[in-house]
Amino acid sequence: MKFIVDSMLGRLAKWLRLFGYDTVFFKGKRDIELVFESIRQQRIILTRDTGISKKKPIKIIFIESENLTKQIEQLKRVLDLKLNGKSIYSRCIECNSTLEKIDKEKVKIKVPKYTFKTHKKFSYCPDCSKIYWRESHLKLAKKIIDKLL
Ligand SMILES: [Zn+2]
Repeated sequence: MKFIVDSMLGRLAKWLRLFGYDTVFFKGKRDIELVFESIRQQRIILTRDTGISKKKPIKIIFIESENLTKQIEQLKRVLDLKLNGKSIYSRCIECNSTLEKIDKEKVKIKVPKYTFKTHKKFSYCPDCSKIYWRESHLKLAKKIIDKLL
């Protein structure tokens, strides 16, 4: 399950990535381009813009709420969204790339001292070089999961 979201759903996109879902932003302006991209990349469109034609052969979900928790609830309702933590932390939240493992020693100067001391495993994004560590993200994700379950 892959997604393409419009710019109004930035926070939702980051949450989907946190849970491991391949989610890209639509950067163009015209609806027809969005439809075209969704077909080309086989992505489900998530949008708050009800003006987009439903006649096209695409899967489209109109997001009802502006509230992030409610948005995730809606997606859980209509899709078989897995928020079980297995795929958490596999994707860069900023740019959607798949994370790669990195040796602890290599991140020493890039992360806070306390984080370096208290964590064993680190990953990085090959595109934007952002360093991630599992525990901090699990905590974030757990907050949302707790609210939802
Ligand atoms: Zn990145």
